[in-house]
Amino acid sequence: MERETLEFDVLFVGAGPANLSGAIHLARLVKEHNEAVAKGERTGKSLGDVEIAVIEKGATVGAHILSGAVMDPKGLRELIPDFVEQGAPLESPVKEDHFLYLTEKHAIPSPITPPPLKNHGYYIVSLNRLTAWLGEKCEAAGVNVFPEFPGAEMLYDENDRVIGVRTGDKGINKEGKQKANYEPGVDLRAKVTVLGEGPRGSLSKEMVRRLNLDEGREPQAYSVGVKELWELPDDRYPAGRVTHTLGYPSDTHTYGGGWIYGMQNRILNLGYVTGLDYRDPLLDPHAEFQRFKQHPFLQRLLDGGKMIRYGAKTIVAGGYFAMPKLYADGVLLVGDCAGFLNSQRLKGIHAAIKSGMLAAEAIYQALLTEDFSANQLRRYEELVNQSWIIPELRKVRNFHAAFQQSRWPALVNAGLQFLTGGRAWGLFDRSKAEPGYEAMKKLSDFGYHGNDIAQRYGDLRFDGKTTFNKVTDVYHASVGHDEDQPAHLHVLDPQICATRCTEEYGNPCERFCPAAVYEMVENGGGRSLQINFSNCVHCKTCDIMDPYQIINWVTPEGGGGPDYKGM
Ligand code: SF4
Repeated sequence: MERETLEFDVLFVGAGPANLSGAIHLARLVKEHNEAVAKGERTGKSLGDVEIAVIEKGATVGAHILSGAVMDPKGLRELIPDFVEQGAPLESPVKEDHFLYLTEKHAIPSPITPPPLKNHGYYIVSLNRLTAWLGEKCEAAGVNVFPEFPGAEMLYDENDRVIGVRTGDKGINKEGKQKANYEPGVDLRAKVTVLGEGPRGSLSKEMVRRLNLDEGREPQAYSVGVKELWELPDDRYPAGRVTHTLGYPSDTHTYGGGWIYGMQNRILNLGYVTGLDYRDPLLDPHAEFQRFKQHPFLQRLLDGGKMIRYGAKTIVAGGYFAMPKLYADGVLLVGDCAGFLNSQRLKGIHAAIKSGMLAAEAIYQALLTEDFSANQLRRYEELVNQSWIIPELRKVRNFHAAFQQSRWPALVNAGLQFLTGGRAWGLFDRSKAEPGYEAMKKLSDFGYHGNDIAQRYGDLRFDGKTTFNKVTDVYHASVGHDEDQPAHLHVLDPQICATRCTEEYGNPCERFCPAAVYEMVENGGGRSLQINFSNCVHCKTCDIMDPYQIINWVTPEGGGGPDYKGM
């Protein structure tokens, strides 16, 4: 098959805040360098036209971007110092911080906001809008931005040096045959490829394993956030008010908490995070969120309002000890792909932006020396280590591990770590850190008889006013995939689903997926797995939490997926 090949100097894979910031900063460094050389202010030669490209699997820049989000503006301020004057889409500066402990019936306000959750000086943002704005800045800087281009495969040379990415084919039907509109994917070759795919990137997962970039590191830990936007009938929750909650509905062994942020135009942004290292095989993160909204405090808040948008996304939570090596020959990892999120502060946008900028600085040096080997690109990791990213992550290095115990000792631990800059006095045996899916217990070990979900959610009703089933919620994520294409969820051994998994875990994929993609259906006297892939919101929970690790999420045809406008 003839494939087109396009050559770039630098290829950024994934149009998230890290990569877009990296592309903007690199274009600026190259321009400044060439101008200084032309004026005789800098020695050396001009870099000429450096071709920079950003590819994105979504239909538009920002379409697949979802976050809380309260942004620490430190990263954006370094990238674009006058971002406010330049019209960055900010919902509101944070004006009030609240922290509530929820019991089943009561919301107990904390007399003080825990210091890591103090957000004074920060901004509530729609990360979808902010990312789209950064995309415009990229194009204005002369960067080629290609939406609907999913990175489907890494390209390596004979020495395992990364030489680019192959994009996905278009026009393959569900039987795997070419349709009339068939277009083979393109080989995008580059001197440096920067992976900024977000949590659990499909290319990064494969590449980190192949190049052993996680050797000696802990397995990455994850959470999943499930979120809705609501339109309120009045000003009961002003823009700029931030509330975080702990307690109900999570059980004391499950890491979880809620957020409620006031946006402009009476839009309420609320969601619930569940750690993807839960033990109960019947747990359902979407159901936890629905229960959260059933709390009397939330019921009052949402009364008369209307749910308008839905989405879900995983969050990297492993922090300092789970960061992979950040470079190899011809490649760098940035943003959530590299695990830079501070899970104690629930913040990663600032570090993502900064990591993209540092990648740009290392690439600029590599362009000057015309050396794109790991030896040269290690400069990126040095810059990260010298920046504020690492001191921030080191201070919270034991935060997530503490929550593998039950809630109260974990909170005491988190408080002590805050006071001591992250020390844990050897309380956690880091050599025993396991991937989160290994924490899930079998049904019988958890004390369940059979897999009737009512054992955990017997009282949960979807009333269509405050609580919604997954299919209704997914409708509000504006998900679109061409149905006549192969499923992008690859189940490597479907035999396990109807046999061992049903018996041992009760098919938890039906629950941990927040978009009703997985369904066990009666099939000629037996049961089999049906994959409703067109519902997929690209959160990656299944790839992370499947107890047998037989689900492999790959990119669907370009442009497919959610459209997280305003999220
Ligand atoms: Fe998320 Fe996987 Fe469900 Fe898609 S199929 S929505 S990636 S859990």
